[in-house]
Parts: sequence; C-alpha cells; structure tokens
Amino acid sequence: MVMREGTKRRLAHVDLVRRYMALSQASWVQRQVGDVWSYKILRQAFYGGHGFDAFIDTTGIPRGTLTARLKHLIDSGLLQRNADNRRQFELTAAGQDLFGYFVLFDDWASKWWMPEDNGQGIGLCAENCAHCGANMNPALVCKSCGHEFIARQVAVNPGNDPVPDVAFPAIADNGRRQQYNIQNLGHDAWLYLTADRWSTHVIACQFFGLRRFNDIQQTIGIASNILADRLQRLVAAAILVPHTRGGTEGRAEYILSVKGLAMYQPTLESILWAQRNLSGEHTAALPLVHRLCGEPVRGTIVCKACNGGLNSNHLRN
Ligand SMILES: [Zn+2]
Ligand SMILES: [Zn+2]
Repeated sequence: MVMREGTKRRLAHVDLVRRYMALSQASWVQRQVGDVWSYKILRQAFYGGHGFDAFIDTTGIPRGTLTARLKHLIDSGLLQRNADNRRQFELTAAGQDLFGYFVLFDDWASKWWMPEDNGQGIGLCAENCAHCGANMNPALVCKSCGHEFIARQVAVNPGNDPVPDVAFPAIADNGRRQQYNIQNLGHDAWLYLTADRWSTHVIACQFFGLRRFNDIQQTIGIASNILADRLQRLVAAAILVPHTRGGTEGRAEYILSVKGLAMYQPTLESILWAQRNLSGEHTAALPLVHRLCGEPVRGTIVCKACNGGLNSNHLRN
C-alpha cells in the first residue's frame, strides 16, 4: 500500500520531534528533578545555603527522604556542599540557572492554579522584583529582540541544519509512588503535575504539535497505561482538553486549554536550560528560531513591570 503524502509527512514530523524531545527529556531524566521533594529542596536553596535541619523546617520533608534527595541532587550536579562549611548545601551554577524555570512555573501556578489567592504569589512569586518592588511577574523574553516568547512564534528546525541524533535514555517509572487524587492535595497539587517528568513531557509534546495518543507514546517512549494515566490527570486539571477531529468517527486528540498554553514559557526554559548546562551529546544545538526576529532562540528572564533582569541573586542573604 502506498503511504499517503499526509501520513508520510506526519511520520517524518514525529521522527523529527522525537529527537528534539529526547534532548529536553534527557535533561530532566539525567538530572532527575522530576520529583516533588527535589523540587521543593531546590526552590528553597535559591534563598541561599541551607543546613540539613533548615531544609526540614522550611519544606517539611522527612529526614530519610531528605538524605536521599540531597545525595541525589549532589550527584546530579545541582547542589553542592559549601567549601567552607561542609554542613551547608548550596546550589551549583547549573542549579542557580534553574531559577528561570522555577520562577516561571511558580508564576503559572500563581495565575492559573490558585487565582483566588488575592495576588499573593506561590513559591518564588511571593517575592517582589528587586528593581521596581512590584510583585514578582516574570517573563521569558528573546535576548535578541526583547519580545516575550509565545509558542507559535518559535519555529522548530526551519533551516537545513542536521538534527542532532540523541539516543533515548532508559527511564524507570515512578508512577506507582505517585498515586494520588489531585483534588485532595490542596495548595501543592499543581507540583505533582509540573514536577512529574512524564506529565511535563506530555505537555511539551503539545507544543511540538503532537496531540494523538500514539504519536505521544512513540515520541517519548512511555508505556500506554502510564500515558493514559497522565492524560487523565492533565484533563482533570483542565490543562488538556480531549478533542475529536473530524466528527465522532474521527481521531481522538488532546489539545491544550488556555491554562495549558500558559505553560509554554517554563517548558521552553527547561529546553534552554538543558542547552546551556548539559555537556557532551546533550549540548547539540537545538535549532529553535524566533520567527519575530529570525534569530536562534536564546532567552532571559525579566520583570514585566520594569523590564529589569530577574535572577536568584537578590534572594540570597
Ligand atoms: Zn521590576
Ligand atoms: Zn527575537
């Protein structure tokens, strides 16, 4: 049977995206931040060095879990012991560079998860801009032209650059440990979506145009029962909306809600972070181009109120 032109194009597209996804996936899998406790430890570390007990006081993490996560984050190259005081743990340069990712996700949660919180931001967004004093309101903007990145203005592989060939790392699923009911998790519920690597990869697929179950499964190498579970969670959280293209007989797809679309900047920042910080095969250039200015995508985090650059320097004491 001759493959239809549209089908061929779609398969070629899936193959292309698969490689890009591998790159961003590799970052999170290799660094293994995909865990709620690790996420909380790192976020606390933006405020400066912490001793063991200070992490327990600020995050409520059980001692045994903290020991395991600290070792893990040190092995991952995100945390280190302070050179002068070995009992203090602090972020490495790569860990500091995660500030953009964390503040953009906290910003998303502040606006879309708990909008009834009376303007009190979640996590890092409870802080104020160090330049103008306004509530933390970050944006990921293009270093070349200064405009905020939005999904449809970022093109994938528009030139003829060869696509980097990155192998998929094997991933152990931790789904069983994270069985939960989103409704019962209260304030932190959103973390179980954004700090879960499968969920973030399913969302990232959306921004690369992968909306069908089979395409997503093939691209990120996820078991079908786990994918079904994550799609169900994302639909329950109103981030994805099930959609049937071409009437009731058509193909089922999942599309982003407005709330889901708003995750674009943190998702893009995770890819840019990987580009800046991962070595070896994972540093292969990702040919993303900003359509507005035609330059390769390089981002920086700024305050929307005053345009001043935002980083974790002013959080540290
Ligand atoms: Zn400002
Ligand atoms: Zn630009």
